[in-house]
Amino acid sequence: MPPLENDGYWGKPTSTIDWCENNYEFSYYIAEMTNTVSNLMMILPPIWGMIEVLNQKFERKFIYCYFLLLVVGLGSWAFHMTLLYEMQLFDELPMVWGTSVMVYCLTEVRKPQTTRPISNVPLFFFLTSFCVFFTILYLYWPQPVFQHTSYGILVFASFLLEIHLIRVKNCRICRRLFIYSTSIYLFGFFLWNMDKVFCRNLNSLRSGIPKLLDPITQLHGWWHMMAGYGTYLQVLFTIHASYDFRYEKLNAPVNLQLRPSGFGLKWAKKVFS
Ligand SMILES: [Zn+2]
Ligand SMILES: [Zn+2]
Repeated sequence: MPPLENDGYWGKPTSTIDWCENNYEFSYYIAEMTNTVSNLMMILPPIWGMIEVLNQKFERKFIYCYFLLLVVGLGSWAFHMTLLYEMQLFDELPMVWGTSVMVYCLTEVRKPQTTRPISNVPLFFFLTSFCVFFTILYLYWPQPVFQHTSYGILVFASFLLEIHLIRVKNCRICRRLFIYSTSIYLFGFFLWNMDKVFCRNLNSLRSGIPKLLDPITQLHGWWHMMAGYGTYLQVLFTIHASYDFRYEKLNAPVNLQLRPSGFGLKWAKKVFS
């Protein structure tokens, strides 16, 4: 929402979108407080995920998936904190790049571990061209609908790839990860829409409740948290599915279990019945 009575540290918003949360209401330095802080869910889990990749000795390539989620989280933090167009790009461009990496990793799941950095050259070339084309066009034609559609197509492609992998392997843990990640993600997307459509109603609701409860009513903030955690689970899915295919062939005595916290996977001895 445009500033009610006060401008903040970052001046007049230059981004092509301004969200429902009132600007500079809680701080002179942060345009949208809840929409900014809620990005911690897109910043802290991927940092933890990268540490886990190293600790658990997973393939290094999964660090890229987490790293791009972290970049989106930092970009989104910067965007909502400043509402500057440059920071909006810092959020929106990595969303498309990161999901492209995710799609690529999902197509690699069934292949044996390789030392070659790029094993599917045509797909790599296609996705890179898609990202370059999208980036150039979006810089010239900064229509939010174009970004939303490009990102949406990639997310949809990642869902289809996951469904395919579940059908082939029928892994119980992957199925659980898929159900959690997609339902959390899609519910977050539903709230993203509600925040846009019912902004006026939400604002009148906010005027009647204590300020302390304001963050709970910021549905865009909920979207950040759900998209962050949903995508984090999607990376866990990719890791698990990769090892499903590789370790079966090796008849390994260990398999990967989901940690009860929901924030990681751990190697556990297989129970043979
Ligand atoms: Zn946002
Ligand atoms: Zn699995």
